[in-house]
Amino acid sequence: MKPNNGFRISKVMERLDNITERIDAIEKLLDNDYDEEKAKKDWVCQTCGKSTFETDYDYLVHPKLHLGCALEEEKKGKDIKEQYHEASSRLYKARN
Ligand SMILES: [Zn+2]
Repeated sequence: MKPNNGFRISKVMERLDNITERIDAIEKLLDNDYDEEKAKKDWVCQTCGKSTFETDYDYLVHPKLHLGCALEEEKKGKDIKEQYHEASSRLYKARN
């Protein structure tokens, strides 16, 4: 076993979390009762406060976090993983 296996596994788990959230978002989009205006309220960047709704997925870390904003925050010393978890918990709180 390579010594960095734990790190790699945590990276894979993060990816899976991310994919699961994307699938959730896609399922919502396919739902006929889906209310786009309500959904847009979830799609707001926690850092800049702007909408992420029209942003391409490649430029998002999370529905609540632009990749560009995350990288800026990282420069200030805030880990992307930490930001991702913050975004996830915000989304969870908003829905429950
Ligand atoms: Zn942003």
